[in-house]
Amino acid sequence: MGTSDSWCWIKEGSGIYSVKSAYVELIGVIGLDSEESRVFRRLWQTRSPSNQIAFAWKVIINRVQTRTDLARRHALPINFSLVCGLCATEDENCQHLFFSCQVSWTVWMKLYDWLGIKTVLLIDVESHFRQHENLLLVSKKAWSSLLLIWIAAVNAIWQCRNGSVFRGERVEVDRIVELVQYKVWKWLRTKENNFLSSFYEWVLIQAICGGLDAGELCCIAHCADFFVGALHLALAF
Ligand SMILES: [Zn+2]
Repeated sequence: MGTSDSWCWIKEGSGIYSVKSAYVELIGVIGLDSEESRVFRRLWQTRSPSNQIAFAWKVIINRVQTRTDLARRHALPINFSLVCGLCATEDENCQHLFFSCQVSWTVWMKLYDWLGIKTVLLIDVESHFRQHENLLLVSKKAWSSLLLIWIAAVNAIWQCRNGSVFRGERVEVDRIVELVQYKVWKWLRTKENNFLSSFYEWVLIQAICGGLDAGELCCIAHCADFFVGALHLALAF
């Protein structure tokens, strides 16, 4: 009496949602020893925001609400177009939208090209993620940094798809690539104490580092700051 109803997060004594309690709960559901659990933990070890990680996880477990997924659950009107929000040529499902669509495929190729990594892309979700991991198997710190790019890429692709579907925005590969780069730069700026590079410097530096050594590139923050110092020194003469 006298109080209104409100939402309560039952996994915390305070009733307030916390990322940590959600993580513990999900790990309990998935099982500690499963492959899914390994991938889940790796995602949560990165320095990206929890909502971006949560979306990447939904991509991995095929829980994104693409048009095909919505139609399967009878959440779309009968005869509603299932065409992809990016390329408008094929049906939109998770695998197509994020990996085999001509738009997202080009985004991934441009990102790898930027990093100096030559590869053939696999198009099913699990293989794509594993391939990304294996391309970057170096130090723990390095792996974590470059995993940010995978998380940022699937989020940026979804953001662009929504812009196209709901606001009629033009789909531009270069804008998606830049959005991925910006997201990762912003996360590093926020979480890495010694990361001082401007966005422009960082993008340029990754291209330089990638061309030299895709493995060493993984020290993104430190590598960037080193080259910024070198660039400033060069410009001073
Ligand atoms: Zn498409």
